[in-house]
Amino acid sequence: MGTVHGQQWSLDADYKAIEPKIIEWRRDIHQNPELSNREFKTAEKIAAHLKSLGIEVQTGVAHTGVVGILKGKKSGKVVALRADIDALPVYERNDLAFRSEVTSEFLGETVGVMHACGHDTHTAILMGVAEVLSKNTDKIRGTVKFIFQPAEEGPPPGEEGGALLMVKEGVLKAPDVDAIFGLHINSETPAGVIRYKSGGAMAAAQSFTIKVKGKQSHGSQPWSGVDPILISAKIIDGLQTIISREAKLTNEAAVITVGKIKSGVRFNIIPEDAEMLGTIRTLDYEMKDHINRRMMEMIPDIAKAYGGEAVVEIKDATDITYNDPDLVSAMLPTLNRVAGTANVQTQKAITGAEDFSYFQKEVPGFFIFLGGMTPGNKEPFPHHTPDFRIDESGLILGVKALTELSLDYLEKG
Ligand SMILES: [Zn+2]
Ligand SMILES: [Zn+2]
Repeated sequence: MGTVHGQQWSLDADYKAIEPKIIEWRRDIHQNPELSNREFKTAEKIAAHLKSLGIEVQTGVAHTGVVGILKGKKSGKVVALRADIDALPVYERNDLAFRSEVTSEFLGETVGVMHACGHDTHTAILMGVAEVLSKNTDKIRGTVKFIFQPAEEGPPPGEEGGALLMVKEGVLKAPDVDAIFGLHINSETPAGVIRYKSGGAMAAAQSFTIKVKGKQSHGSQPWSGVDPILISAKIIDGLQTIISREAKLTNEAAVITVGKIKSGVRFNIIPEDAEMLGTIRTLDYEMKDHINRRMMEMIPDIAKAYGGEAVVEIKDATDITYNDPDLVSAMLPTLNRVAGTANVQTQKAITGAEDFSYFQKEVPGFFIFLGGMTPGNKEPFPHHTPDFRIDESGLILGVKALTELSLDYLEKG
């Protein structure tokens, strides 16, 4: 039940009608998954559906993205809703009737393809929201933009894609978006529950490369060389002190991980150089800047202290999924109404990343987690694994949440 122009309304009949449809769409998409930037058939299905509802459709946005624009009967602000549509290179191990048996080519290898992150559910949910809203344009005070986004899991090497490319191509312009909502299904949160965090909800992911240069020598005579392996060890140690001694960990968590280190060929040679690769995860812009700056200062200095040289390069992969605190407080009553107060729960930050962050960098946004676990299941099925599974009874709450978040947001003006 919501209120428009002081009139109470309920979309319960629409939700009831849409639930079997979203489950059917979800199963179809699940059985026909497509990898990032290759979501051709998925995009066709989405575009056909939106067109059948009389929604204005743009295709080919950021390669395979689909955007729908639905104008309400009254003019007002513009709200965007986003669903990601890509699958992962994973062989499905479930015994579901609609399990994926699709294989594809990925980086020169044949791989299984599976909706192992649940983006099939996001796609079906947003298709459902589009249908419900298209039948209720009298309740829309403004415009709703439906963003079906490719390549959330990251475009293949050498390609652009995902939210960043959509933003570059102007998806938040013409008409200009005032706020954006999105959700992620979660296989470890009970169906019927919505979880959220105000502020930094998911981390910024950055990658870094450190190149250390020493001086090659015989392994028996270290005094005649400069050991890049020892310098690397000191650098790793130094990096961890940025986290443990400098990062304000009571504000938010932060992580630096060195995930790859390569140096040397033989037991009795001190090599010329070493290379390390790693990732940085932050949930707060100030901490992110501090950690980046200190890495740039500390790494060359440590190398220099031991007679070598080091250069570091830091690259952004994904920014902070930052839920605008004002938008969160304004929209909480809506979530409480659709899910029931006891089912709307706060949660801790996640050090995983989500490219929804690129939309939130441009306009205020709110990204929620939707329960997709059978309540009481003690061994949920983790995302990105061959056994990943979702309880479909949780999906309709996603339709309700996105539908009513948009209606209420526009109604508030
Ligand atoms: Zn994922
Ligand atoms: Zn995902």
